[in-house]
Formats: sequence, C-alpha cells, structure tokens
Amino acid sequence: MIPGPVEFEPEVLRALGSPTKSHLDPDFVECFGRVLKGLRDVHGTTAGQPFVVAGSGTLAMELGAGNVVSEGDPVVIVDTGYFSERMATILTRLGCRVTRLSAPVGGCISPSELDAALVKESAVMVCMTHVDTSTGVRVPVEAMARVARARGALVLVDGVCATGGEALAMDGWGVDVALTASQKALGVPPGLAVVMAGPRALETFRKRATKGRSLYLSWDEWLPVMEGYEAKKPVYFATPPVNLVAALDVSVGQLLREGLGPRIARHGRMAAAFRAGTQALGLRPVPLEGPLLANTLSALYLPEGVDLSLVARIRDEGVVVAGGLHPAIRTTYFRVGHMGAVQENDVLATLGALERGLARSGQGAAAGRGVAAAQAALAAPR
Ligand code: PMP
Repeated sequence: MIPGPVEFEPEVLRALGSPTKSHLDPDFVECFGRVLKGLRDVHGTTAGQPFVVAGSGTLAMELGAGNVVSEGDPVVIVDTGYFSERMATILTRLGCRVTRLSAPVGGCISPSELDAALVKESAVMVCMTHVDTSTGVRVPVEAMARVARARGALVLVDGVCATGGEALAMDGWGVDVALTASQKALGVPPGLAVVMAGPRALETFRKRATKGRSLYLSWDEWLPVMEGYEAKKPVYFATPPVNLVAALDVSVGQLLREGLGPRIARHGRMAAAFRAGTQALGLRPVPLEGPLLANTLSALYLPEGVDLSLVARIRDEGVVVAGGLHPAIRTTYFRVGHMGAVQENDVLATLGALERGLARSGQGAAAGRGVAAAQAALAAPR
C-alpha cells in the first residue's frame, strides 16, 4: 500500500513474464498500437499524441517538458511539493526562467493567485503536479488550466501519481502535455514513461527555434515510431520494452473494461473509506483543506509521541506503507497509497494493521474505531 510501485494484477504480471516477442512481430505491433489508442481514452483526449518510452516517471517529465520549451523561456510552476521541485530542476537545467508559486506544506495556491502571477509575469508554460506524492495534495487542474490557457500559456500536468486514479479530461480541461509512469494507477511494474501531447504542444514543438540536444528524449525520434505502430507499420528507433508494453496492454484493457468513470469513482470510495478510518483514529492529513485531498494516496501526520518506527510496525503487521518524503516534514508523517487494484478489503486490512501498529507504539486507545468508521463509509449508499 505504498504510493507506487503498487500491487499488480496477476494477468499483468503474466504478460510481463511471457516469452518476449520481436518488436517487429505482427502481434506486438497490434498490441503496441492498441496501447497507444487506449491511452488516449485514459487521458480523456482524442487529439493527443501518445509516447510510450522505456524509462521512469522522471524520464516522462523530461520527455514531456523538454520538447516544448526553449532556452530562456519563462515557465511557472504551481508548487505543491517534492515533485514540483523536481520539475523546477529539470526546467532550470533546460535553461528556462523558472518561477515557483509555492504554498505552505500541504497547501496549493488558488487559481486567482496563479492568474495574478501570470499578469505580473507572462509564461510560456504552467506546470503542475496533479497529485504530489510527497504531500498527498491534489491540484485543481481544471481550474488552473483554465487560468493558464486564458493567459496564453501551455499547460503541463505531471500525472505520475494520478493518471488512471483521478479524473483527467485533457481535451475538456485544455491540458497540453500530460505525463505519467507505469507503476502507479496505470498498474504496471516500473519501467514505462508515458507522455500525451496535445495539438498545441505539438505545434509549439514543431515551431521551436532551437532543438534540444538529447537524442533519446527527442519527439523527432519518437513521433515516427508511435505513429508507425499505430498505423501497424513498425518503425525502429530504439528497442521498445516489449514485455512492459504487453503488460500495459493488459492493464489498460482492464482499466477500460472497468470504465474510466467507475474506476475513478472506486478510487474516490476507497480514499473516502480510508480517510474516514484515519480520521476516527485521530490522524491529521498533510493537505490543509478537504478539496486538496487526493484519491490516490493519503499523507498523514504521526500522532504525538509516535515516530516513524510506526511504518516498520505496520509492516510487521503485514502491510507495507511508506515513510515521509517532503524534506520539510520528512520525519513527522507517513504515506499510504490506495490506487490501482485496491479494493475494500485492502483498505480494511491496512486500517487494521495501522491500528495494531499504533497499539504497539503505545496508542491503542482508538483500536477498532478506524476499521468501524471505514466499514460505515463503505456501507453508505453509492
Ligand atoms: N512525479 C510524481 C508525482 C511522482 O510521484 C514520481 C515518483 N514517485 C515522479 C514524478 C518520478 O517518477 P519516477 O520515480 O518513476 O522517476
């Protein structure tokens, strides 16, 4: 129950362990093409151009951002934690002039604050982390994108900890670049970077005066590959991670069979039940306001008198959760992922292990209340 890598469905793991096909095999060509089409649905876009490349989420960040900005471009980052800072580092290395709009830990600037900042200083791109994995803060992407677009900026969303578990309507919201990775709500072991580029992003890429220097990260190299596989005519640039793509095919298929709407609703229900449980145990979330609470993970402050040994105690009780990540509060909180295949019993088992862990940390007074509150939330009519 960590915020990635998550637990994977057996069928996905079976695809990963199946005999590796040639990257030019007609079955694989079919499979890759299906994955690319399916990813459009996952992102809520018909016009987007998908890229699926071997690499982690950080590579997706570079692949997504690096092809639309040029040296000297002013860029604004809605800063909600650790991964916003990573995006700032990437863009700074690309030679952009980066402005970070930060809020206190657990907070997020409002859309009107973003608007005021863009009036003061124009930006070619506004970047945001849909859900920051270090704080559990979910940015109101739709409202932020509306403001950024109205001020003429491209919108980039880091959806590594969100896509497939939080609502995303790229076309409807005006998101120009969305990026993610395989190991979280997409439900595939680590190793795939996924980028979806909208028409404005592609146009900006094509009109750039200066090209980036990296070969592996250039859309110039990957566009013919992605277009080729979708047209069932494989194009070689660099060997695709055949088994991971086959695993993604299975998991995207599962996701679309469940239906994007029902899947997001399930994530909402699991998050609400887990929140009801942790609230009943007296644990305070890191996000400062209700609407900022993510569906994909919970970041929770440790209670008075309990340190991070709680994480090991919960592990001893059979559930793996994560420690802190945000440097300002690292030792004072822990994180629980509830995305991908997570169901009711996982939420209840986690709360049970959390209660036993707390009891072993000398905080047993509330034992049973968390599970009871989650049961009540799960029993509520849908
Ligand atoms: N962005 C976010 C929101 C993330 O949660 C992560 C990984 N936890 C990354 C980017 C970077 O991904 P990776 O670790 O796969 O490079």
